[in-house]
Amino acid sequence: MKNDQRLYYAYSDYLKSKYGEKVYKLPVNLPVSCPNRTDGNRGCSFCAGCGTGFEAMDASVSVKEQLEQTRQYIESRYHAHKFIAYFQNYTNTFLPVPDFRYYVEEASKVPDLVAVSVSTRPDCIRREYMEVLKSISERYQLDITIELGLQTVNYRTLASINRGHGIAEYIDAVLLIREYGFELCTHVIVNLPGDDMTDCIETARVVSALRTDVVKIHSLYIAKNTRLCEEFESGTISVCSKEEYIRRLVAFLENLSPDIAVERLFSRVPEKDAVFSNWGKSWWALRDELFAYMDSKKSYQGKKFHYLGGAALDKIQGA
Ligand code: SF4
Repeated sequence: MKNDQRLYYAYSDYLKSKYGEKVYKLPVNLPVSCPNRTDGNRGCSFCAGCGTGFEAMDASVSVKEQLEQTRQYIESRYHAHKFIAYFQNYTNTFLPVPDFRYYVEEASKVPDLVAVSVSTRPDCIRREYMEVLKSISERYQLDITIELGLQTVNYRTLASINRGHGIAEYIDAVLLIREYGFELCTHVIVNLPGDDMTDCIETARVVSALRTDVVKIHSLYIAKNTRLCEEFESGTISVCSKEEYIRRLVAFLENLSPDIAVERLFSRVPEKDAVFSNWGKSWWALRDELFAYMDSKKSYQGKKFHYLGGAALDKIQGA
């Protein structure tokens, strides 16, 4: 842990230590879709028609305009001076390479950026896109983050939610991203239907072993007009209780490397877009409940991070 007083290593602290001050992400929406939503495929069972980005502006607005408008708002509200352009929605490396280069370069010209963050799928990481990002990073002196949706390491669950990729694709993508020295953020959902506590713990262990830099943890929400919504309303699937979610979240954090920054603990989705979200609680009420539970259990991130580096030998050889 960076600081023993903390229950977990917050992403905001990670950014502050890296850049010396608060840094804010500016979401940008591009006119792109997702290979998992082509040929009549509705995509992941939780994916709403708008992908996963509820916060970003319309993709018809230019990249520069989106960034400038959001930047002005954040700057005046939070007195922020450093920003990350965040290509959030859908699968941004599904764009043809020249288009991808154009949009990322447009964003990179905006002043006071420290990094560009690109969301995509593990099966859409290819060397051409990495080369584009490398050249832009060098030219504009910007850090690059790749955000990969993994969700869970249970490949049967991945199949049942129609992710369209397994674990091999995630490992392959991580290795290539590492080769380029880019920062990696992995998105997970710790309470997917079909997953249990064991899957949640194993997901924390795998992302720790593969040394992701950041994790973004989502609580499952049920967005309107999704396959998950149909399954939820017909009673085919259910969402675990709030108490069970908190238990899983704590187990995830205890098994997570203390060096991995945690960007989010609960999903944030506008109520009007979902039939189920966070058990009807605000994220800060859930956060307070989580912290109280962790306090009562003397829990903290990395408490059970003792399984790598030949840990079994320690027991035998007393190392
Ligand atoms: S990968 Fe993302 S954009 Fe594509 S279907 Fe799944 S949630 Fe939707």
